[in-house]
Amino acid sequence: MLDIASLTELLAQPQKIVITTHHKPDGDAMGSSLGLYHYLIQQGHHTTVITPTDYPQFLNWMPGDEDVIIYTDHTAEAAKLIAEARIIFCLDFNALSRINEMGVLVGESDAVKILIDHHLEPEDFDDYRYWDINACATAQLVYKFIVEELNHKKLVNKDVATCLYTGIMTDSASFALPNTTPEVHRIAADLMDAGAVNWQIYDRVYNNASENRLRFLGVCLSERLEVLYEYNTAIIAVSKQDLEKYDIITGDTEGIVNYALSISGIRLAVFIVERSDKVKLSLRSKGEFPANDICKKYFNGGGHRNAAGGCSNDSLEQVIEKIKLIIPEYKKLLIH
Ligand code: 5GP
Ligand code: MN
Repeated sequence: MLDIASLTELLAQPQKIVITTHHKPDGDAMGSSLGLYHYLIQQGHHTTVITPTDYPQFLNWMPGDEDVIIYTDHTAEAAKLIAEARIIFCLDFNALSRINEMGVLVGESDAVKILIDHHLEPEDFDDYRYWDINACATAQLVYKFIVEELNHKKLVNKDVATCLYTGIMTDSASFALPNTTPEVHRIAADLMDAGAVNWQIYDRVYNNASENRLRFLGVCLSERLEVLYEYNTAIIAVSKQDLEKYDIITGDTEGIVNYALSISGIRLAVFIVERSDKVKLSLRSKGEFPANDICKKYFNGGGHRNAAGGCSNDSLEQVIEKIKLIIPEYKKLLIH
């Protein structure tokens, strides 16, 4: 493991740096990556953000988006950048499997690997770790890494601030989750002082849907929602046909699970979507209920206690059946 003094020394000279983040990046993955990118380029580092896959269109407005390389679209170029990197920042993920095939390249690389993350139980693949599971977002940790570890508050410019604010806003469900501490609000205020425009960021992220997305949401709520009141659980399951009918693209399904959790008394919400290659599950829970436990145990996944995900190679019908068999196991935790 590297210490902060050696890391500061390494960063004192311009380096070739790659920043990467998890498969199907969300607002925090892109916000933390691009926030760090805008910090590093000010010091002359040759920095590239490489994502394992594409990401939602509602994040395309972010400063620096045009410089992001998507591995699946530019594999050779990305592989070359990873091989040549002196430093690789791994943001918002805890296991190399979360970056798909890129995980092998990052694992084999001789670069110094810096993990900045807030997920449970990170794998041991890094040389320096800035990790806190109590952080509401990786973007919060990137801010603290820049300001407290590297003493560079003056380099938090408008672009850095805008991207980090986006990460914090999206991962904290707009400052509504229990991990939104006073510190989170203080950091958000600092980011606004540095130029982040809160209402504009909110508008760009959340008021940016297609008509199809809204109609699809209507179908999810009126026709695909099933409420299991005896277990305080709500399930929304959508098929490949549903996705095709409404031209649903990456990011369009994000947040739908939260509607299921908004029903009074519901403690567990499950969103199941039949993608072309597998069935993906998104779980959200309230309070102490361990959504990540179900994902880890039964669906090859994981995540946080109140927000977790996983996947299955079974059919949509089989996954629905399986989750309905699993839920009664957790009855005690769901009904007290
Ligand atoms: P989402 O439901 O938004 O896809 O994911 C919620 C959270 O669950 C993510 O922040 C991530 O931590 C975790 N997660 C989602 N899918 C997976 C997965 O396949 N494997 C693991 N380990 N974690 C996942
Ligand atoms: Mn995150």
